[in-house]
Amino acid sequence: MAIGYASPTNLSQLFEAMSTLPEYRLFAGGTDLMVRKGRGLLPLGAIINLLTVAEMQGIVESDGSLDLGALATHAAIAAHPGVQQAAGALAQASSQVGSPQIRNMGTLAGNMCNASPAADTATPLLALEAMVVAAMMGRPARERHIPIREFFRGPGKTCLEPGEVVVRVRIPIACSTLGTGSSFIKLARRRSLAIAVINGAAWIALAGSAAPCIAEARIALGAVAPTPIRLPAVEDWLRGRPVTKAVFAEAGRRALACINPINDIRATADYRRDVAAVLVERLLTRAALDANFCLEDEAPVSPGRVSPAQAHGVATK
Ligand SMILES: Cc1cc2nc3c(=O)[nH]c(=O)nc-3n(C[C@H](O)[C@H](O)[C@H](O)COP(=O)(O)OP(=O)(O)OC[C@H]3O[C@@H](n4cnc5c(N)ncnc54)[C@H](O)[C@@H]3O)c2cc1C
Repeated sequence: MAIGYASPTNLSQLFEAMSTLPEYRLFAGGTDLMVRKGRGLLPLGAIINLLTVAEMQGIVESDGSLDLGALATHAAIAAHPGVQQAAGALAQASSQVGSPQIRNMGTLAGNMCNASPAADTATPLLALEAMVVAAMMGRPARERHIPIREFFRGPGKTCLEPGEVVVRVRIPIACSTLGTGSSFIKLARRRSLAIAVINGAAWIALAGSAAPCIAEARIALGAVAPTPIRLPAVEDWLRGRPVTKAVFAEAGRRALACINPINDIRATADYRRDVAAVLVERLLTRAALDANFCLEDEAPVSPGRVSPAQAHGVATK
């Protein structure tokens, strides 16, 4: 059966196509969409190709934020020096999605809008407190700024309304007296081409001089609840505490009270609980390392990596 097709070059053409084509699907990289279509899970009257929409392209660094176009591919995000510098957790997550082919086609917005609880970019976006910029069909088109914490609503569900699309994602670039750092870890059944059994990201801001402490910490976990989640109770507990192994280990133990994993084809709920505590401890340790704070017995930061603290000329450990 013939299906409709449109390849709009800007948002107004996109909304025009959305208002005229019946039972359309938005197609970015197609790496989720075509799998669902192949499984017969998707009624498909028309395809609207987003890849030509100008407003959704590119990665732009501006004063105080990084703006990632909805169509930024995982490969482009992973390779972008500005993302590596200011949003290391997201660059790491993108570099671990699927395979080179998937990373060259799959996009940031596609990963978010597919809304898998295990989506690899979801936890870094949560830890980095990204803002989703969406546009809604209408005259004039309406723009909405959605904190990423409100975006995911359940497996396969987002807060986007009918006729609304993701245009870009804004990540604030934060500073603090002793520096900031972030990290991402994914556990899967293979090293590549595997969906996460559990994944997570952390972001940390350090402060103080003689006795450095945690000014702020953010932790997000995936595949432990119906949506990727933040752990506010653990984050509150961490605020003001010293940067030590014992504190990070206790944070890991406290994380268990915040999660509600299930048994599925990838792992049991018990296994996910067992590894969650260790995962959180390691995420925090690596985020501190990224801020150039070396815990006792930890390996030094790899040569060539410039932390935000160094970039701001702040003395480091
Ligand atoms: C072999 C394989 C391996 C994979 N491995 C991983 C992995 O390791 N980690 C992981 O997280 N994912 C993985 N995936 C899933 C997939 O590749 C990613 O989720 C990818 O980022 C999806 O992006 P896309 O551009 O291909 O989305 P598409 O398939 O084009 O779209 C996905 C959904 O998002 C909607 N959409 C896309 N863009 C927008 C927009 N701008 N506004 C509103 N809606 C939009 C589409 O309509 C569709 O419903 C894998 C997939 C395959 C096939």
